[in-house]
Amino acid sequence: MPGDDLYAILGVAKTASDDEIKKAYRKLARQYHPDANQGNPGAEDRFKEISHAHDVLSDPAKRREYDAARAFGGRMPPGGGSGGAGFGDFSDIFSDMFRRGGPSRGAPQQAPPRGADVEVEVTLSFDQAMQGAQIVVTADINESCATCQGSGARPGTSPQLCPDCRGRGVSGRDLGGFSLGQPCHRCAGNGTVIEDPCATCHGSGTTSARKRYPVKIPPGVKDGTRVRQAGKGQAGLRGGKSGDLIVITRVTPSRIFVRNGDDLALDVPVTIAEAALGAQIEIPTIDGRVKLTVPAGSQDGRALRVPGQGAPKLKNAGRGDLIAKVRVRVPDHLSDPQRELLEQYVALAPDDPRAGLFS
Ligand SMILES: [Zn+2]
Ligand SMILES: [Zn+2]
Repeated sequence: MPGDDLYAILGVAKTASDDEIKKAYRKLARQYHPDANQGNPGAEDRFKEISHAHDVLSDPAKRREYDAARAFGGRMPPGGGSGGAGFGDFSDIFSDMFRRGGPSRGAPQQAPPRGADVEVEVTLSFDQAMQGAQIVVTADINESCATCQGSGARPGTSPQLCPDCRGRGVSGRDLGGFSLGQPCHRCAGNGTVIEDPCATCHGSGTTSARKRYPVKIPPGVKDGTRVRQAGKGQAGLRGGKSGDLIVITRVTPSRIFVRNGDDLALDVPVTIAEAALGAQIEIPTIDGRVKLTVPAGSQDGRALRVPGQGAPKLKNAGRGDLIAKVRVRVPDHLSDPQRELLEQYVALAPDDPRAGLFS
């Protein structure tokens, strides 16, 4: 069974020309035409498949769209191999859209809406981002109204079923199984109306309050990391779940370290002698210092990697690396004895570093 693969249905290659598609279609259409297959119900289905495949593949725009959708579907990991299976996922998306188009006949109203997420930015020092921090975030958050318990109706009364849509939340007729509706105007799609609003929240069911939340920032956050506090956002209406509070971290750059993913890089100045002879030196880390071997003959710009001394990875997944970049510092002032020694050095090693430029 070729399934959803339109090329397989027509028995042509994916690269088939318009002419090849037309020929294949004509041959199959003759073979499976219902008039020629009285009493063979399978043939009719096959004929419909063939016609559909021809409709799509003979129209350049539709064919391009189909090819693109197939390529997209084929990349989905659990697609099951063939492009056809991937295309199946696509049609699921469409049927999903149809389901959302409007509640089916007589179905109860949708679940109470979840409250919105609230985003708050906080600025952290580089050290705080590396070590983690306990901070306090202030935000104006809607809470469920205490007077009416979030119903929006004056205590002692309750929201009534909307008389216009009888609780369905959509207006419009029922078209034989297809409910083509728009949200009801009277109740804004809620399915209920409040005739006697709560005096505290004026019927909204929520009240705004300035809240202070302690938030634990884990070690290793970056500039733009979103730390989610579940259920600390806006209250949902009519008993819906609260949204989340999302703390977005802004991190002040370090004077010394440059962050690259979970690695940290720093420039390490060394003297001419250290670069030429090699040296054991110490360099700073985010929580102390570490020994580093500069190999003899290190050129300016050489990157030396110190594993596990970079930024902490989120979720306690270890640390990145520290990348020490050798920066050879040339003395800008020489004493007389130093100058003499360097002149002796030149006399001993008359190499020409620019020889390669002219070869
Ligand atoms: Zn209504
Ligand atoms: Zn209220």
